[in-house]
Amino acid sequence: MATIKDLLQQASTQLETTTDSARLDAELILCHTLKKERSFLHTWPQQELDQNQQATFNTLLARRLEGEPVAHILGERGFWSLNLKVSADTLIPRPDTEKLVELALSVIPQDKPWQILDLGTGSGAIALSIAIERPHCHITATDRSASALEIARQNAALNHITNISFSESDWFSELEDQTFDMIVSNPPYIKESDPHLEQGDVRFEPVTALVSGKDGLDDIRRIIQQSPAHLKENGIILIEHGYDQAAAVCALLKESGFHSVEDFKDDGGNPRVAMAYHV
Ligand code: GLN
Repeated sequence: MATIKDLLQQASTQLETTTDSARLDAELILCHTLKKERSFLHTWPQQELDQNQQATFNTLLARRLEGEPVAHILGERGFWSLNLKVSADTLIPRPDTEKLVELALSVIPQDKPWQILDLGTGSGAIALSIAIERPHCHITATDRSASALEIARQNAALNHITNISFSESDWFSELEDQTFDMIVSNPPYIKESDPHLEQGDVRFEPVTALVSGKDGLDDIRRIIQQSPAHLKENGIILIEHGYDQAAAVCALLKESGFHSVEDFKDDGGNPRVAMAYHV
């Protein structure tokens, strides 16, 4: 039977044409097969797999070689301090979105019971990260997709998070006249003609979580226009956007009467999150 070291070597070489994270992908699939942390692979490179483990690894590797995202093969993805269940019904949480969480936490007081709204929560990544860091706050997490909300609910339960409620809502449609101290959202924002939609992991994600009209801004426009009616005095909006949409999003915010509009870069150096204050 092959050793951990040899198997990783072979799998990485095979994966090189599928992904630019070949070695990492091979390691994550092997960790999942062995039910071990990544440090185990580095500590015990000469350990051999048994027959069952080898068969499982081969099956999972074959799926990755077909292009299926690692997060779908493993059924989970790490985000912030949480391990989140993911499925084909939600966007796979991305590290870029941790910037939005970091900014939100930088302005939410530690001890005040803020009411926070997460629009289009998907797997619940943003809502749950804020909820766990600010136990005095209450988060309302919405999604138009009932199956996405089901995943988010399961993630709350798996991570023992209770200061959150879920609502099936098309942006603000079911929120009536509720108002919040903060609105956060990572809405779809990719242009419908973007060639990246034909490549890599996004091919396996729900198009409704990715694409938003000709210029990618249809949903962001709706959210920004409707937000003032749902924010308390001096309430804050934080919205994720595409790397080339900062100027457009900041202009929309100003048009809707927001002040102190500011844009922030993600850790990859791309403009990613706009933040602004309601009057
Ligand atoms: N950031 C994602 C991507 O570029 C898109 C997610 C989104 O539209 N909110 O693949």
